Formats: sequence, C-alpha cells, structure tokens
Amino acid sequence: MADQLLEKPVLKRAPSILDAMTPSSSLQFEKIPVEGYEQVVKITHKSAGLTGIIAIHSSTLGPALGGIRIHPYGSFNEALEDVLRLSRGMTYKSAIAESGFGGGKGVIIADPKKHKTIELLLAFGAAVEKLGGNYICAEDAGCTTEDVKIIRRATKYVVGLPNAKSSGDPGTFTAWGVYRGIQAAAKKLFGTDSLEGRSVAIQGLGSVGSRLADILFWAGAELVLSDLDTAKVERLAHQYGARAVPADQILATECDILAPCALGGIINDKTLPFFQCRAIAGAANNQLLRDSHAVALQTRGILYAPDFVINAGGILNVTSELDEEGYNPTTPRYRVHRIYDTLLAIYEIAEKNRESTHSAALALANYRIRYGIGKRILPPTFHHQAE
Ligand code: NAD
Repeated sequence: MADQLLEKPVLKRAPSILDAMTPSSSLQFEKIPVEGYEQVVKITHKSAGLTGIIAIHSSTLGPALGGIRIHPYGSFNEALEDVLRLSRGMTYKSAIAESGFGGGKGVIIADPKKHKTIELLLAFGAAVEKLGGNYICAEDAGCTTEDVKIIRRATKYVVGLPNAKSSGDPGTFTAWGVYRGIQAAAKKLFGTDSLEGRSVAIQGLGSVGSRLADILFWAGAELVLSDLDTAKVERLAHQYGARAVPADQILATECDILAPCALGGIINDKTLPFFQCRAIAGAANNQLLRDSHAVALQTRGILYAPDFVINAGGILNVTSELDEEGYNPTTPRYRVHRIYDTLLAIYEIAEKNRESTHSAALALANYRIRYGIGKRILPPTFHHQAE
C-alpha cells in the first residue's frame, strides 16, 4: 500500500504525509474552550510543521464553512483572536445570506511564501477530515485554489477547487453584490437607485474592486480610483474616464459613496474625521476596527452598509457548488441580487430602532440563528473528486 502511494509524485517528495493521513498519525488535537463557540481546536503535526487552529463558531443553520488563512502570526494568541473573529463573521454572513451554512474558519501559523509545503497542507486536510464535515474549508488569504486542491487529497470537505465542477473566482459575484449594495445606499440616500452621475470612490482594484469599477462605469457613475499599484490605477482610470487618487488620499476623497475593496479596519478613530462621503459600501471584510465605530459613523450621518451583508456574493456562489444538482450559476445570481433588499430592510430596522446599521444587521443575523431561518434541510453534496 505504501509503495503504491509512493508512486504519486507528491508522496515521493514527502513520505511523512502518510503520517498525516493514517490513524497512527502524529496529528494532535487540543480542544480550546471558548465561550460562545461550538468547537475550537488547536491542531499540530510536528513533522509537517503544522500549527493551526480550526474554529467552529456556529453550525445551527448548517455545517460551518469558511476559508483557511495562512499567515505568519506574531503569536498563537494573535492567531486565536483572528480565527475567532473571522469564524463569527462567517456565521453572520451566512445567516444573513441564508446560505444554509454556519460559520467556521481555519488558520495556519506559517509564512505562505516560505513555509507552505505539501505536508503542511495535507496535515491540515487530515485535521479537517477528522472533524467529519462539521467544518468545510476553502481558500482565503495565503491559501490559493491550488493549495485547496492539495488539501482535497486528504479530505472531501472542501469548496472552491480549480476544476470544471467549481464555481470559479468568487470576485465576479462579490462585485455584483457590492454593486447592488451601492444601489441600495443610493436608494436610501437619494430616493432612487440610479447611479447615473453619482460619484463612487473605490479603494483597491483587485479581483472585486476592478470588476466593481467596470459595473459602475456602465451604470453611469463617476469613478475615483485608487490602488497601491499605480500602473493599474492609471490603466483603469484611463479605461473608465475616472479620476485617480493616491492610496493615502482615497478615504478622504469627497464622493457620494466610498467603496473599500482592499483592507479591513479602515473605519477607525484616525480615519473617521476625514471621511467626506455620504455612505460607505464596499467589499472589504471587517471594515470597522471596532463595533463602536459603526455608531460613530451614524453620528456623523454616514450610511454604512455592513460588510458581512454587502460582500456575501462570494459565499453564495461558492456554497452553491454543494447543491445536490451541482453548481449552476443562475442560483447564486438571484440570491446575490437580493442583497439590495436585505440592505434596505436593515436600514429601515436601524432607523426605527435608532441603532447603527451594523447593530441592526447583527440583530437580524442572531434572530435568524435563534429561529433557524434559512436552516439547511438537505446535507451538502460534495461533487469534486481528488486529483
Ligand atoms: P485582492 O487581493 O484581489 O485586491 C486587493 C487590492 O487592494 C489589490 O489590488 C491591492 O493592491 C489593493 N490595496 C491594498 N492595500 C491598499 C491600500 N492601502 N490602498 C489602495 N489599494 C490597496 O482582493 P479582493 O479579492 O479583490 O478582495 C478585496 C477585499 O474584499 C478584501 O478585504 C477581501 O477580504 C474582501 N472580500 C473579497 C471577496 C472575494 O470574492 N474576492 C469576498 C468577500 C470579501
């Protein structure tokens, strides 16, 4: 058996993978009790160089699903804090989007540029397998679709593989959802969701931001663009007749709507006094440094589209891979479209309750979890084969 496996190129390079995939594995699980979380486990595999954490925040509405972040965290506690925050965010995102999944996340403490090996990925995959489908993983920062393909050899509980049965790059769906969110912001602010002549400033022109720029151009918006990659900004500014601004000025740009599509934590004590927009509606995860910054935005009269609501297009697309009948892009297309209605409902609730839009969205997510609204009925179907 071992000889047969050794025929595979990956195992020729890394015989220790066998350890990660057999019952006699040196994979170690250590439970970390955390209040409010269903399961948090530290996973280690010495010979594979793996130290990681899988956090399952909630599986009330369906199996926990979330990406794997590979990052050289400064300490174990920093990684723990990140995985807890991210997995809880996934719960809320999925609950609001009614994806039929719960919230989970995996982190691997490693520099993806230096320490990512096949052994490491397979050992992590073995850990996911051991959780028996309670956690379904996908790519995230530092973990590519090619990495996920390797992880698939150790576990079937994976989405977002780069093959014909996959849903492909989620950026297209996320960008469309953000566009619908920007329309909802315009509706709330101006009484019409037409973006003709409205100014939208986009921070970050990557997978989502560049697609969003394209959609907004065709919707008639006046664009202000920014990215660290100045050549890209110039190219897209020329393409869309947009104004290019330096990366350190985009947040303070006067505009109708600011769309952060780069980094988290951009709404904080330092940036708050500088915003000159009527609304903030963009793709970036964890835009608020702290929840209280949502209240500060409200006080300043800036409408905020909660990030975990507006950026759910990607999760809606990727999870539809697990539909019984297989991936069909028309299903997530309609669901992503509805982000508009969800946001308008959240704005109304926030106004009635005199609370921040972030707080209203959290309450709505918790309400759905409590009453099982959108709970999965059929178990997910894994159509992918290991390659
Ligand atoms: P990406 O890595 O493709 O693009 C990010 C872009 O932001 C890059 O071009 C980068 O140069 C630029 N950037 C980084 N720092 C910047 C700064 N200070 N000022 C201006 N530009 C800066 O990422 P993406 O997939 O487009 O995702 C964008 C954001 O949306 C991320 O926060 C991501 O977590 C979130 N998000 C993405 C998806 C998705 O489907 N890709 C889904 C949900 C949420």
